[in-house]
Amino acid sequence: MMKKIDHIGIAVRDLEASNKLFASLLNTDCYKIEDLPTQKVLTSFFKTDTQKIELVAATDPTSPISSFLDKRGEGIHHIAFEVEDIHLEIMRLKTEGFIPLSEKPTVGADNKLVVFFHPKSTNGVLIELCQEIK
Ligand code: ZN
Repeated sequence: MMKKIDHIGIAVRDLEASNKLFASLLNTDCYKIEDLPTQKVLTSFFKTDTQKIELVAATDPTSPISSFLDKRGEGIHHIAFEVEDIHLEIMRLKTEGFIPLSEKPTVGADNKLVVFFHPKSTNGVLIELCQEIK
């Protein structure tokens, strides 16, 4: 089951500057900064009442975020839905013709199992599914 939007991911060039900007916009400091070496990104998280904002910056020119920024510039990068059972949802979405970027979920930021679905299959929006690791 898709439960709700967990967070919206925003690609930024300078995480430190954007942390300040979003702290001022949301009137709250980020509660977590996390380095994800496997994806060559540095992320930070902000909590609002019902969902979160994730800022994502590249830590390497070969990071997928670097190519996103080159192509599209800063802005909304993905929408993440919290799911009850990520394995079931991957199967369901594949059956529906959506294209996962990996066959299995991986450990992502914020203590979550995550999987992404190719924007080609979702009207240009990169979709993330996430399930909290308990
Ligand atoms: Zn995300």
